[in-house]
Amino acid sequence: MTGQANPFESLQSQIDEAAAYLDVDDDVLERLKHPERVLETNLTIERDDGSLERFKAFRSQFNGDRGPYKGGIRYHPEVNRDEVKALSGWMVYKCATVDIPYGGGKGGIVVNPSDYSEAELERLTRAFAKELRPLVGEDRDIPAPDVNTGQREMNWIKDTYETLENTTEPGVVTGKNLASGGSEGRVEATGRSTVIAAREAFDYLEKDLEDATVAVQGYGNAGWIAAKLIDEMGATVVAASDSSGGIYNADGFDPVAAKEHKNETGSIVGYEESEEELTNEDVLTLDVDLLIPAALENAIDADLAEDVSADVVSEAANGPLTPEADAILAEDDVFVIPDILANAGGVTVSYFEWVQNRQRFYWSEEKVNEELEDHIVDAFDALVETIEENDIQNPRTAAYVVAIERVAGAFEEAGSFP
Ligand code: NAD
Repeated sequence: MTGQANPFESLQSQIDEAAAYLDVDDDVLERLKHPERVLETNLTIERDDGSLERFKAFRSQFNGDRGPYKGGIRYHPEVNRDEVKALSGWMVYKCATVDIPYGGGKGGIVVNPSDYSEAELERLTRAFAKELRPLVGEDRDIPAPDVNTGQREMNWIKDTYETLENTTEPGVVTGKNLASGGSEGRVEATGRSTVIAAREAFDYLEKDLEDATVAVQGYGNAGWIAAKLIDEMGATVVAASDSSGGIYNADGFDPVAAKEHKNETGSIVGYEESEEELTNEDVLTLDVDLLIPAALENAIDADLAEDVSADVVSEAANGPLTPEADAILAEDDVFVIPDILANAGGVTVSYFEWVQNRQRFYWSEEKVNEELEDHIVDAFDALVETIEENDIQNPRTAAYVVAIERVAGAFEEAGSFP
């Protein structure tokens, strides 16, 4: 991970590239490149030893032209304002790419959660939920999990909000556990859309997924599920990494057993089916048919991009390529399924969760997966149509063309107040 590119600038350059294919007014475009508002706040909580500690936290509400702001909350020591702004913008275009009625938002706390007890994290999460209370709500802004947050944090946020508001409103956050109003299929949704999109890309490129080898960078929620599901589709997962390093087996390994090893030891490194230990960079440049980056942004910079050997990249992570790396892969004819489509399963099933919460009527996992399949396949078809109609080389640009057209259309149709 280089961490060199400013993710907010990356987002803006992606929008500019797509705008070249669109007839959108410059002033409207300017609006689509900046968040509507960003909350920056300081949370002070009591540590278990009685001392106090302050944490910086953010919530960016980028654009609400198509519906309530929607997006995750990340706990990480490197969370910063520009990262949160960029992530919130990507949510706008992601929701538009898969055509769900949301705008985009994102939040985060500057914290390394592994340094804190569960009770401290609960106090921190509830303190953030209290700050967010006036901003969120099922028709205003709907948080969800992101890096280092999950069902537990969402349940705490929901409970804090409902207590303060004296109501029941499970749709105020998504990614909850089932008992708290979560949806079947939500945990697997991001990995699932990553591999559905990869399957569609292989089909479009007339390549056989069953002969494909796969490398997965990052073995958290998105990465390990993608590994499991692509293995079930018949591809061979030969390499994977997490923050401790990578594993490799030329004949493939069992992704579920690798995950069990990680659960037991804290890392996939040392997993018994691994023939060789790789660095994180080795995993990204391995000669495989499909690469799934599923860690953090800017994982692949221009130098690494020169060495990427995969034919298809399906971006489970948000913003894993720097803009320079993206241009290099496009020139090299690597088919990159952009994050705003590949990992949109998470927000799509969040949308289904919100629909179920509002209806107070819950779907089977089968129905959730069928609806998800339809949304991702439709989004991929729209992408391909736009690529072919405009002769666009980079699929990411085509996805932004589709998405910007939808967001700009919503703004232009509604006009502005006052
Ligand atoms: P997670 O915390 O569950 O997993 C992250 C994984 O990345 C961990 O295994 C960690 O060890 C690994 N990692 C960190 N640095 C690494 C490095 N330098 N090299 C290799 N591995 C490294 O997070 P997640 O929920 O799986 O999210 C991963 C990415 O997917 C993020 O970019 C996130 O924004 C994106 N995403 C997640 C969801 C979701 O529903 N979980 C939805 C959309 C997008």
